[in-house]
Amino acid sequence: MSNDFFSAGLAESDPVVFEAITDEVHRQTGGLELIASENFVSEAVLRAMGSVFTNKYAEGYPGKRYYGGCEYADVVENLAIERARELFDAEHANVQPHSGSQANTSVYLSALEHGDKILGMDLSHGGHLTHGHPLNFSGINYEVAAYGVSRETEQIDYNELQKIAEKEKPKMIVCGASAYPRIIDFERIGEIARSVGAVIMADIAHIAGLVATDLHPSPVPHCEYVTTTTHKTLRGPRGGLILCKEEYAKDVDRTVFPGVQGGPLVHIIAAKAVAFGEALKVDFKSYQAQTVSNAKALADELAAAGLRLVSGGTDNHLVLVDVFLDGKGITGKKAENALDEVKITVNKNTIPFDTNKPFVASGIRLGTPALTTRGMKEDEMKKIGSLIAEVVHDPDSESVRAKVTREVEQLTDRFPMYPLRQRPEGNEATTTA
Ligand SMILES: *Cc1c(COP(=O)(O)O)cnc(C)c1O
Repeated sequence: MSNDFFSAGLAESDPVVFEAITDEVHRQTGGLELIASENFVSEAVLRAMGSVFTNKYAEGYPGKRYYGGCEYADVVENLAIERARELFDAEHANVQPHSGSQANTSVYLSALEHGDKILGMDLSHGGHLTHGHPLNFSGINYEVAAYGVSRETEQIDYNELQKIAEKEKPKMIVCGASAYPRIIDFERIGEIARSVGAVIMADIAHIAGLVATDLHPSPVPHCEYVTTTTHKTLRGPRGGLILCKEEYAKDVDRTVFPGVQGGPLVHIIAAKAVAFGEALKVDFKSYQAQTVSNAKALADELAAAGLRLVSGGTDNHLVLVDVFLDGKGITGKKAENALDEVKITVNKNTIPFDTNKPFVASGIRLGTPALTTRGMKEDEMKKIGSLIAEVVHDPDSESVRAKVTREVEQLTDRFPMYPLRQRPEGNEATTTA
């Protein structure tokens, strides 16, 4: 990546913003990124995102725009649509949602009336804010019922879900999660929904990359609507995507625009096209398979070091770790802070039936998509697992922190990313990306 690529005059025209971007490049490359919803996009995706398409208004859809001069916007949007459909074997794709939340909002608006009932996964069991939290659009506008995981297995209890669905008679079942380490049985949820006359929205924001490469069963054949973000395992620009059956296509398109959004972010749509193109190549599947193997290796090491894995393990890209251990360990909050000190970035997370408040939490959530993009494999994951356990077992020790910090530096040095370059003579910072 050339010096000019990011700077393109920014260093001179706005040194303060330039400095912040440079610092962020150093932060991202100098630490171990284990936030399960983050990833590192390719230079090609970055390039498309930073393109002149940001200047263009293109309200409407390809061939039916409200503005002139949309011929090239049509090219990238059509490409993104075709590639998304191919990637997920879907009848219809809308690539305009600005985010995962906007995608979900649009589906609700097209499938539900104000006050209808949705049945979503409990946030504290791994669900998402947009699946019915009282402070979110979903909880404000719709009646909400919730299902969760069983106390024994910490996995979704499908028999219980069937019972709740029969009792609650929701208009829509919402499935998919932000902190669930196991396979989701979309086929079974499809049967449950049909038995009570509900439609389904499957939100695969976290697992879209696995679904696209057949490493997780696809919801597409079983669900009327499938939504996702494009920036998590899918490794594209920050944004959203809706897939649906042809019979719902018109309604979905109308609720995205003009129902929920105005002009589409054409530069982001261009970057989605690039990312979907990358995801259709064979090496994307080996990347996703490595992400899953890495999560298993990390999980095994953490369990061997005495931490408890929620649900006993992982089938996907993330691991939910109980660090509180019924009061014998530390809180998720303390673990997050202690790990931050040694440049290991994770987030605290509630565990099912958590006895701590959400802002304190008993767990941490770890994901391998970003470090796998960086090229790390099972050996590095084992090392990282043991470093995390050392910090969690002894969070206040200065000597542990110093040692772990050194080992983190060695690891990040061995796996360079967005290569850093010398800055022109006379500039204060020494490097840029
Ligand atoms: C991340 C996530 C979203 C929201 O995505 P944003 O782009 O942050 O709005 C929605 N649903 C699930 C399950 C998620 O994990």
